[in-house]
Amino acid sequence: MKPAKFDYYAPVARDEALGLLGQHGYDAKALAGGQSLMPMMNLRLARPAVVVDINRVAGLSGIDSGESGMTIGAMTRQRDLERSAEVRERFPLIAAAVPHIAHFQIRNRGTVGGSLAHSDPAAEIPALCLALDAEITAASSRGERTIAAGDFSLGLLTTALEPDELLTEVRLPWLDSDGESQWRWGFREVCRRDGDFALVGAIALLRLDGDNVCREARIAMFGVGDGPARIPGAEAALVGRAVDADARAEAAGLVSQAVDPGSDIHASAEYRKEVSGVMARRALEDAVSG
Ligand SMILES: Cc1cc2nc3c(=O)[nH]c(=O)nc-3n(C[C@H](O)[C@H](O)[C@H](O)COP(=O)(O)OP(=O)(O)OC[C@H]3O[C@@H](n4cnc5c(N)ncnc54)[C@H](O)[C@@H]3O)c2cc1C
Repeated sequence: MKPAKFDYYAPVARDEALGLLGQHGYDAKALAGGQSLMPMMNLRLARPAVVVDINRVAGLSGIDSGESGMTIGAMTRQRDLERSAEVRERFPLIAAAVPHIAHFQIRNRGTVGGSLAHSDPAAEIPALCLALDAEITAASSRGERTIAAGDFSLGLLTTALEPDELLTEVRLPWLDSDGESQWRWGFREVCRRDGDFALVGAIALLRLDGDNVCREARIAMFGVGDGPARIPGAEAALVGRAVDADARAEAAGLVSQAVDPGSDIHASAEYRKEVSGVMARRALEDAVSG
């Protein structure tokens, strides 16, 4: 299968890339790792007239720790995220989740920014960014802006990025413990075969005090809607109480009720709804026992 004809540009400077995206607007697509764009072009599901290859653009990749959080460049390969000692230490949740993305060959090329911009509802990185309250930076010839992860996904394969905007980096605020409480996490997903997209995925982040009483809760689900989603009802049900088996079961039931998945060739909506509760409960168990 071959893509439709397109013009190819390989800028090396960021301004040049932004200029090309600004000039061609909806006709242009940035090419990052190509792991989603190229299959879509080959299947003629995407037919950009112009492809702007951003692989040579300087300054778009890398992982940096600052005072308030970690900054991850858009062109950082998923495999680099997985292998980073800094990520493993500060965000073990990410280190545990990223190996679930496809296979290592795909993660060698696939990028953090590409996953976010592609916005597959079953993708791990957008769900991680949502759970971790990430801020996403978008740049264009018009300037730069920051988009909260919660405002970034607008639905199936759709984001808040404008056609002339390049996602340049993601900032993850530190999950700070305050001496009396500590952040704990759990990650679960189910898929048919290792490396497949998740049928259902759950991320639990709990700030627990010494008696396992929950001070703050975040539950993010993926694969069960048009984009990743926090479940505020289930989060609220956990805050202020000990996260024991009853609390976990109650929250998991609320997750199951809240999600509204669709059916496809991989799984029915009923299956996904039921399994959402199971994944959420197990992620909560992991968070409490981890
Ligand atoms: C067989 C297979 C299995 C997979 N399984 C999984 C999985 O289990 N979980 C998962 O999360 N993903 C999975 N993926 C997708 C993979 O993670 C991709 O790497 C990712 O979705 C896209 O990243 P990319 O860097 O390859 O982006 P590309 O394919 O290059 O681009 C994807 C889209 O994002 C846009 N884009 C890319 N970078 C930017 C940017 N910086 N600014 C603005 N727009 C940008 C492109 O224009 C394009 O529209 C799978 C892919 C394959 C082929």
